[in-house]
Amino acid sequence: MTRLRTAIPGPKSLELQARRKAAVASGVGSTLPVYVESADDGLLIDVDGNQLIDLGSGIAVTNVGNPAPAVAEAVHAQIDRFSHTCFMITPYEGYLEVCEELNALTPGDHEKRSVLFNSGAEAVENAVKIARHVTGRQAVVVFDHGYHGRTNLTMALTAKNMPYKHRFGPFAPEVYRVPASYPLHDGLTGVEAAQKAIAAIEKQVGADNTAAVVIEPIQGEGGFIAPAEGFLPAVAQWCRERGVLFVADEIQTGFCRTGSWFASDHEGVVPDLITTAKGIAGGLPLAAVTGRAEIMDAVHVGGLGGTYGGNPVACAAALGAIRTMRERDLNAAARRIEETVLSRLRAVAEKTGIIADIRGRGAMLAIEFTERTPEVAARVAKACHDQGVVVLTCGTYGNVIRLLPPLVIPDDLLAEGLDVLEAALLEGAPTA
Ligand SMILES: *Cc1c(COP(=O)(O)O)cnc(C)c1O
Repeated sequence: MTRLRTAIPGPKSLELQARRKAAVASGVGSTLPVYVESADDGLLIDVDGNQLIDLGSGIAVTNVGNPAPAVAEAVHAQIDRFSHTCFMITPYEGYLEVCEELNALTPGDHEKRSVLFNSGAEAVENAVKIARHVTGRQAVVVFDHGYHGRTNLTMALTAKNMPYKHRFGPFAPEVYRVPASYPLHDGLTGVEAAQKAIAAIEKQVGADNTAAVVIEPIQGEGGFIAPAEGFLPAVAQWCRERGVLFVADEIQTGFCRTGSWFASDHEGVVPDLITTAKGIAGGLPLAAVTGRAEIMDAVHVGGLGGTYGGNPVACAAALGAIRTMRERDLNAAARRIEETVLSRLRAVAEKTGIIADIRGRGAMLAIEFTERTPEVAARVAKACHDQGVVVLTCGTYGNVIRLLPPLVIPDDLLAEGLDVLEAALLEGAPTA
């Protein structure tokens, strides 16, 4: 491959890495410490002049490209007019436009309202605030393998101890965890898995105490686990019958990532509240809670907000990103990526004994290894990184490689990245 000029990381990246050690808290990790100078959709160009193929999109953020022209233009135009007023002090139109888009694009054609924040965790925190306020109940139900962020409440909602929670307690109270649907391992139909989860809620929490069920329609950090068909509709229906709010955390799955605007759309699930972030604004920090008007408007004036929430530059970026998703039909693009990647990876899986499952939807795809330890996934990821292909791992057992290419990645670049991944998988196999 001619894209690499040096070993990975190269000498300049190594120099920066040494400087970093003296300046940056070591609690912040980096999957691949090459220092980026510029990007070109599916490529990251580092300080040593290496071109890396990006199959991670900065964790499902740069769905529309990096930098996306419509995002860059909108950001330039806005920053030249004004950078901040605080929407809670003197408002501006961009915030409204983003909320109008969210209300129109999210599942369900009921009347909706939105409120904007800076990060995914902040959106989830606020969804819980709203749900507790409107129901007058306290308990929040989450699932095995769930991931919802790193703030105190969202750490409590997140399943995995290491690295997210270890020695960071005590955690927020009134959070209860129940089994999720994990088709590869539980052997249950969606309805059976839902019955199991619901039974646990009824026995251990009580519907009358439960404000909300918070769920990722496809679990992200926990392993790219798509629940068996029927699971989400059954949980949503139970919520509806019991006055429990169904909160879909679509922070990773949203904005065309899974081949539709939101992953809830695939089974026609209509959440009461939906949290979004990551792919929303082409890389600028923005997040939202969108939900039924009567729920969202139940909170007193001043109860929701934040200094930077819905920053005008981030709103402009979101409008540019959403326009790009529409104009370039990125839902169709995600579905094409799914076809390409799944067929190639399934062919490789037949040739090696190390792969337990190839799965996913749209451009949110994963390889789960048979071994329930991180070693094989880490080895394969490292082999890709050495060849200049950025892939991420995930999963409760760390034994999953996840692929999140930008939805605008050119076909030949995706193919080139997959060549490297395939070779790494075949090499990682004990028997060729
Ligand atoms: C990333 C993520 C979050 C947290 O978002 P941040 O912006 O990192 O706070 C919450 N939920 C899900 C499903 C995510 O993937």
